[in-house]
Amino acid sequence: MAQPNDCLFCGIIAGVVQAKIIHQDDLVVAFEDINPQAPHHALICPRKHLSTLNDVTAGDEALMGHAVKVGAELARKLGDSESGYRLVLNCQRGAGQSVFHIHFHLLGGRPFTWPPG
Ligand code: AMP
Ligand code: ZN
Repeated sequence: MAQPNDCLFCGIIAGVVQAKIIHQDDLVVAFEDINPQAPHHALICPRKHLSTLNDVTAGDEALMGHAVKVGAELARKLGDSESGYRLVLNCQRGAGQSVFHIHFHLLGGRPFTWPPG
């Protein structure tokens, strides 16, 4: 799939836009959120450009499963496995999505309430 030139996260994945990368492999890149909402706030992005969760198809199952697994591994490395953490994917503007390249938020390092705002 083509990687759009105007996509911020494609730019980070390509190394054209700077970010604090905390993990990368063949399928995903994870980096610190520029505007953290918790002491630990990382974004886990598939390298493949998918605009929203609605664009995920059967062929993306392994990719999405891998992204979730990386989230759990990073939470463990950050020391949040037992205290608790959130792995959140916002889909569409109504749910708070502002960057239209699919990504999981990994939030940890503080208590969280439910329901989210
Ligand atoms: P969402 O609103 O779910 O689409 O999440 C987008 C996230 O990207 C927000 O938490 C932003 O703070 C974060 N963000 C925007 N620009 C950058 C950037 N250049 N580097 C890292 N994170 C960013
Ligand atoms: Zn993109």
